[in-house]
Amino acid sequence: MAEVYDSNNIFARILRGEIPCKKVLETKHSLAFHDINPLAPVHVLVIPKGAYLNMDAFSAKATAEEQADFIQAIGETARLMKAEENGYRIIANNGANAHQDVPHLHIHVLGGRPLGRMLKPAGE
Ligand code: AMP
Repeated sequence: MAEVYDSNNIFARILRGEIPCKKVLETKHSLAFHDINPLAPVHVLVIPKGAYLNMDAFSAKATAEEQADFIQAIGETARLMKAEENGYRIIANNGANAHQDVPHLHIHVLGGRPLGRMLKPAGE
């Protein structure tokens, strides 16, 4: 995983309009769109519009306005997807141990079915 933000990553290209996405919500500082390979009936990604590699960069460098917008966008996305009723999970994979594939911060909003335990215990 590169430590420097790569402005050619796929989500940066979506933000620039170079690649289409199935938009769920757009706010001043955030964008939510359907995951291309959904793992649950609800699987939406919420990303900040700013060039932030991961949560470390976002929490350290994003403005308070960007951070508030992002949190609100995550909650609003879950509401729009009607994931509230039976519950949902939010996940942000950061770096190699977490298998982050796309080097632009994104929150997975997952729901629409029982999702099982948060993690398998080591060894399973
Ligand atoms: P992560 O492993 O947490 O980095 O997750 C990256 C996610 O991005 C995966 O769930 C992919 O299915 C999803 N993804 C990759 N390319 C696209 C795309 N063009 N549009 C929507 N989702 C994508």
